[in-house]
Amino acid sequence: MPARRRPGTSGRQSARIEPLAALRHRALSALDALKVLHAHTQRPGRDPATHEDAGEDPFQVLISTVLSQRTRDEMTAVAARALFAEFPDPGSLSSATLGRVRRLIRPVGFYNEKAKRVREIAKKILSEFDGRVPDNLDNLLTLPGVGRKTANCVLVFGFGIPAIPVDTHVHRISNRLGLVRTKKPEETETMLAQVFPKDRWLDVNELLVTHGREICRPIGPRCEKCPLEVCPSRRRPFQQQ
Ligand code: SF4
Repeated sequence: MPARRRPGTSGRQSARIEPLAALRHRALSALDALKVLHAHTQRPGRDPATHEDAGEDPFQVLISTVLSQRTRDEMTAVAARALFAEFPDPGSLSSATLGRVRRLIRPVGFYNEKAKRVREIAKKILSEFDGRVPDNLDNLLTLPGVGRKTANCVLVFGFGIPAIPVDTHVHRISNRLGLVRTKKPEETETMLAQVFPKDRWLDVNELLVTHGREICRPIGPRCEKCPLEVCPSRRRPFQQQ
């Protein structure tokens, strides 16, 4: 029987590509190994047995994700803390002055543009969604400057709804592991959604992002500390501690 074609690939490529069932098995093994390796980073409130998430405030997840674009995590955390101490919800943020928002989020890159954007988002949530962050992708994507990554982050981390936010870490590591062969994050999202069963989607972003920050870094991946033995991009053997 011929090998099944991997989603999103041409028939010509499929001759060289592993069957989908084997790919899924490899993807789940990698995810399980990362879950053990990065157990210390499991977010509080998450039930590891059921994958259910107590959730963070969806509005604050949304605004933090907008603030985090092209900004280091530490700077995002400082700015988000300062902003939410004064304006924790759509009602308060929509009536804040632009100058005050700008000052509070100054640690993040592009704070001028982001100040305008977060206030516009708050206003739209107030006027069109009754002050509540929408819990579906279509409505989230209507908010100013909100793309698929941000919208999916809100679903996963704000509502505990299965989705796969694809940022630079998820895109890079999925390709290095050979789970996808894609150029754009949107393609990666589509393919990962076929490779991973839906009941594991909540894990994908969190584990790959942690792995990307700590081990599979963009430049100089620390392969000697990585237990993903089957990775086709491995540069050095794994050294058990
Ligand atoms: S073996 Fe190296 S390239 Fe592959 S996932 Fe691990 S750190 Fe990244």
